[in-house]
Amino acid sequence: MDNILYLVLPCFNEEEVLPETSERLRVKMNGLIKQNKIDEKSRVIFVNDGSKDRTWNLIREFHEKDKLFGGINLSRNVGHQNALLAGLLTVREYADMVISMDADLQDDIDAIDEMVEKYLDGTDIVYGVRSSRKKDTFFKKVTAEGFYKIMNTMGANTVFNHADYRLMSKRALDGLSQYGEVNLFLRGIVPMIGYPTDVVYYERGERFAGKSKYPLGKMLSFAVEGITSLSTRPIRMITTLGFFIFLVSIGMLIYSLIRHFTGATIVGWTTLMVSVWAIGGLILLSLGVVGEYIGKIYLETKMRPRYIIEQFLNDKD
Ligand code: UDP
Ligand code: MG
Repeated sequence: MDNILYLVLPCFNEEEVLPETSERLRVKMNGLIKQNKIDEKSRVIFVNDGSKDRTWNLIREFHEKDKLFGGINLSRNVGHQNALLAGLLTVREYADMVISMDADLQDDIDAIDEMVEKYLDGTDIVYGVRSSRKKDTFFKKVTAEGFYKIMNTMGANTVFNHADYRLMSKRALDGLSQYGEVNLFLRGIVPMIGYPTDVVYYERGERFAGKSKYPLGKMLSFAVEGITSLSTRPIRMITTLGFFIFLVSIGMLIYSLIRHFTGATIVGWTTLMVSVWAIGGLILLSLGVVGEYIGKIYLETKMRPRYIIEQFLNDKD
């Protein structure tokens, strides 16, 4: 039987939730193994993303007590996306399918059954999609949904309300490993891989314990990263804007000439001030957007490693 399932959970300062998470996952995994849906060589791998608390100690303890659990210790904090990537690319050689999920139990672990079912039916990528956000605060809901909408209008095509809870087959992961970009935005890259895909709906729960590691500021910069690493549409928008402003300026030229020849040349100071500020603002904004892309090129040409693994604990047999 070759349905070895690996779960990958990035963890950053998650000491408060890990005991509960590991306990629930142990029950879930053992259940699936008993039902013969997954191989007994299936594992749960926690990726410690440079936590400052006892997270890595806990992971080591889980590993010593039960070989179901393994861990990857990164050399420092590299952020959720890169930590996830480290996990996915490390376990892909041992697994037939890999599910990534958050460590805080916000992703309903009962959706794993359905994901595995779909994999067994021949689907390579199964997206976990939130059916509702009842448990999120109003603010989180509005900002998070706005995030997906902005992303899509800016040309970064992502699956609506899908975070990083998904199943990927080994060959889909092999595909992913060929994307060498440093500015990695998994949610945008995975749909580009292709292969048969499907979705599973689940209810997003509350964080079991601890605080969100994604405050608004981080979320905004995540959106900018996502857009500028996936699409060049903002640059196109600037070009379009520039073109329209050029049209307006021709209109202004004709208008001023008419005013000049009809003798009414005392043009308002207000208009002048407004236009100077408006154009100045637009130029700075446009430069900023172009700068974002140049910054990306700069980082890509350096080809820095996306993560460094300090230690990998896994009893694969
Ligand atoms: N995370 C991480 N590195 C970071 C920030 C977060 O590995 O620098 C992990 C975190 O431990 C959690 C997941 O990413 O498992 C999602 O983070 P969180 O639950 O704080 O985000 P939210 O659900 O509030 O968007
Ligand atoms: Mg969370």
